[in-house]
Amino acid sequence: MKRYIRQIPIIGEDGQKKLMKAKVLVVGAGGLGSPVIAYLAASGIGKLGIVDGDVVEEHNLQRQVIHAGNVGMNKAESAKKFVETLNPDVEVVAYPFDIDPSNVLEIVKDYDVIVSCPDNFRTRLLLNDACKILRKPMVHAAIFGFEGEAMTIVDTPCYRCLYTTFPKVDERTATPVMGFTAGFFGCIQASETIKLILGMEVLKGRLFRGDLRTMEFFEIEVSTNPKCPVCSGKLRSIHPENYEGECEVIKLDE
Ligand SMILES: [Zn+2]
Repeated sequence: MKRYIRQIPIIGEDGQKKLMKAKVLVVGAGGLGSPVIAYLAASGIGKLGIVDGDVVEEHNLQRQVIHAGNVGMNKAESAKKFVETLNPDVEVVAYPFDIDPSNVLEIVKDYDVIVSCPDNFRTRLLLNDACKILRKPMVHAAIFGFEGEAMTIVDTPCYRCLYTTFPKVDERTATPVMGFTAGFFGCIQASETIKLILGMEVLKGRLFRGDLRTMEFFEIEVSTNPKCPVCSGKLRSIHPENYEGECEVIKLDE
């Protein structure tokens, strides 16, 4: 408990125990994932699962600060090493491969909260659908340049209520971003995750948007889309055909 002495006056010993019992899955150990992993580990989360199939490259270090000194290593393994050094009390499981339709439910089912930090729409949608099917809360964020957004999905509305069309191209190829933008929005995800575990109010049905160039911050109220295939309960399992091309839901379970 000594390690957490500065936060216990805020969250109480009971709150600290809740964190120490919580199991959080972070999907993507990149720009957003780095601060998420660092602050969740530092706060004393009981178990952290980290999924990433990529290898650390030199140009990642502009924002992916937890991978310092680990160029060439798998990102999930590198993040695990970071967490073990920062806080040995945290149990870390590294999944050194990409999440896909064949493994998503199996991985997600073991965790209490899922933090979505991938670099592409396909994985965001796959996680959204898996979390809705398994009734797990998901903390979303996305960044571009100086700008970003965050929303927490507990029941409805979901990510498919928010956006109905997605670009066909996989934007995995080098989205321009400032390192601190990833840090800022990743910290919002860490904060949302901890508040969820503590039972505090989160960004449910509220899309937070911010621009660090102009310092304008605002929220958009998001409501459940009656046509959403996931929130309407028409999609109850993961079908690989729903994650191809524009990731439109073409196969349902009715
Ligand atoms: Zn929805």
